[in-house]
Amino acid sequence: MHFYLATSFIFPRSLRLRLFTLCFVATHLPLLGYMAWGLATGRLALAEFVLLTLATVIGTGIALYGIGALLNPIHALAQTLQGQDSDPTPLPEVGDVIQTLYAGVHRAAHVTRTQMQDLNVAAHEDPLTGIANRRGFLMQIDMLPQARRKGCVAIIDIDHFKQVNDRMGHDEGDRVLAAFAQRLAAQLRRVDHVARWGGEEFMVFFPDCIEDEACWSLSRIATQMRDDPIGQVNGRAISFSAGVARWQGAPIDETIASADQALYDAKQQGRDRVCRAAQPACC
Ligand code: GH3
Ligand code: MG
Ligand code: MG
Repeated sequence: MHFYLATSFIFPRSLRLRLFTLCFVATHLPLLGYMAWGLATGRLALAEFVLLTLATVIGTGIALYGIGALLNPIHALAQTLQGQDSDPTPLPEVGDVIQTLYAGVHRAAHVTRTQMQDLNVAAHEDPLTGIANRRGFLMQIDMLPQARRKGCVAIIDIDHFKQVNDRMGHDEGDRVLAAFAQRLAAQLRRVDHVARWGGEEFMVFFPDCIEDEACWSLSRIATQMRDDPIGQVNGRAISFSAGVARWQGAPIDETIASADQALYDAKQQGRDRVCRAAQPACC
């Protein structure tokens, strides 16, 4: 690298010309040495001089051709990398092959990083509603520090949603799902985690809440669904049922199963209500 930088004053914008120059000088050294010696001693022989000059010219030609041929694939690779550019950030002026390669690798790495970020978002977000999907929710829960792994979990299911699809079409069903997700996200606290669990089911984690608080929060949203409906089916405002369970740090699957059971109870009891899970038997 030192030599690379030290010689950069020769054709600073072209590594190819720099290499050619160095090669040209190096291959002519024997000839120059012979001429200097011959002039100093007066023993310059024409036949030897011509022979040495010819050999030098042929050697230089071979060396220049070889360097050019070896540089071609590197140059092509650098141009390919540069062609992948989608990064609007202006990079330093591309001066030679090494800089071109560096810039190309830099840009390729940037594009790959951006694509990976996009994939990561796509894998954890529900495209219809814009909120987290099941995988995103579980990842958020996994990332919680031990001290914050407590609160309440609620599973929410829109009532008679199949009828929305059947009577008003799938597009209207999609609109209702998106509007409901928006309503949940808008009405819950910023610290609450809301996700689309699948179909017309949603999941909420209320950090640091007891069941009373989680149920109150959901009941408030249920009231708003009646006062300001996101849609109607059979002349009735679209409603939801929910099951709430307390989470105290045990594997969350168990708490989700309890919340699911409470949701089932809510459906059995006539829908449009929030039920809490039975407390686990205490030892
Ligand atoms: P319940 O009150 O018992 O929950 O009845 P339901 O009709 O809401 O429940 P059911 O499980 O019978 O129907 C859910 C429907 O949700 C069936 C399915 O076609 C529909 N659904 C699931 N995902 C989507 C979606 O992304 N968009 C639309 N439009 N419909 C969906
Ligand atoms: Mg359902
Ligand atoms: Mg339903």
